[in-house]
Amino acid sequence: MKIVSASLLALGLLAAAGMAQAANNCTVSLKGDDAMKFDLKTATVSASCATITIELAHTGKMPAAAMGHNVVIAAAKDMDGIARDAIKAGVTNHYVPKGDARVIASTTLIGGGQKTRITLPGKKLTAGGDYNFFCSFPGHSTLMKGKLVVTK
Ligand code: ZN
Repeated sequence: MKIVSASLLALGLLAAAGMAQAANNCTVSLKGDDAMKFDLKTATVSASCATITIELAHTGKMPAAAMGHNVVIAAAKDMDGIARDAIKAGVTNHYVPKGDARVIASTTLIGGGQKTRITLPGKKLTAGGDYNFFCSFPGHSTLMKGKLVVTK
């Protein structure tokens, strides 16, 4: 009987450890395609992560000049303004306004078959804040956007 309860306890501890790890969202993996879509509408990260990694894989075949994708992280209220200014920033700046304080993080612009990633400190985000992730290629943010949920 003693042995049984010991193993049950061990199982319980293992399950608790597994849950703690699952709750620790420090990586977001997005896929973008030739249909101008991200595979996720919502992603969750934790502000307590020392480092948050945002990964993007372009699963399409079209070149960056025609169907380029990036990932920009910003407050939801700033998304439209950044997307407008991104057009002026142009392709040489990966369609991200240079030195723009509204941009919390942004990846490079990639084409079909390519991958990119960025990291940011979790403390740059506030738990419960209203954030979006989106592609700032001209015209894409109307479809290529999602909610970035930030937990503690
Ligand atoms: Zn795009």
